[in-house]
Amino acid sequence: MTYKEINDINAFARLGMGYQRIAAQTGISANTVKSYLQRHPGESHLVLCQHCGTPVEQKPGRKEKRYCNDRCRMAYWNSHQDEVKKQAFYTLTCKHCGKEFTSYGNRNRKYCNRLCYANARKKTA
Ligand SMILES: [Zn+2]
Ligand SMILES: [Zn+2]
Repeated sequence: MTYKEINDINAFARLGMGYQRIAAQTGISANTVKSYLQRHPGESHLVLCQHCGTPVEQKPGRKEKRYCNDRCRMAYWNSHQDEVKKQAFYTLTCKHCGKEFTSYGNRNRKYCNRLCYANARKKTA
């Protein structure tokens, strides 16, 4: 598991979610979430630096910090940039109007927008 996955699990656990809901939210398998929570009871308040894994002190009322310092944040983004881009964006062709469009995180989209989706359904109905 990555430090980011641990942070995600803990963030949802803090909201009182059970392991099955956490698994659905994070895309991590339910077994992995369950065994992590069992092995780390009472640690859901922890936020780990996503680069080096050091617990990051949180200031109450402030936005959650996920890096111990700017150097770790930059290092994390530099090493994950390519991965993030590759996985997240797909260039697809709209089945209705034939235009190319970019889909974020979902390569199974068929239409560039809701209008094309609606028109395509109207035609076949
Ligand atoms: Zn760090
Ligand atoms: Zn279209």
